[in-house]
Amino acid sequence: MKGRCACGQVHVSLARRPDYVNFCNCNLCRPIGGGWGYFASAEVEITGETAEFGRTDIERWLTTHFCPGCGAAIAWTPYGPNDQDRMGVNMRLFPLAELEGIPAVWSNGLAMSDDDPDGPIERTGHGTMGDGKAF
Ligand SMILES: [Zn+2]
Ligand SMILES: [Zn+2]
Repeated sequence: MKGRCACGQVHVSLARRPDYVNFCNCNLCRPIGGGWGYFASAEVEITGETAEFGRTDIERWLTTHFCPGCGAAIAWTPYGPNDQDRMGVNMRLFPLAELEGIPAVWSNGLAMSDDDPDGPIERTGHGTMGDGKAF
């Protein structure tokens, strides 16, 4: 499936639909406004120049890639001690019609902390993309 940022400078191509879309309330996800699908890096192709922001506030270290033209969050990739082949793609860049039927979850990312960086993430809600709630 194919998506793009608001200004069209950055395009994202995915090899498959995500298993689910995660809406998180943590101090990264809430301000940058992402709804995340998770992929291995080989499943994601990003074209166009992106700018980067490196999160260091807690040990879930992430680099956020965003469009320097319109500011849209594109994806995040892990780095440092968080290194793994798993990335998050902002599913808000994709046409709603193509997201229809994919499970949506809401997560209490605010509960993550350095004390328990790999602890379970509490799910606070469930829905389905396209049901009128998710976006
Ligand atoms: Zn853009
Ligand atoms: Zn989050």
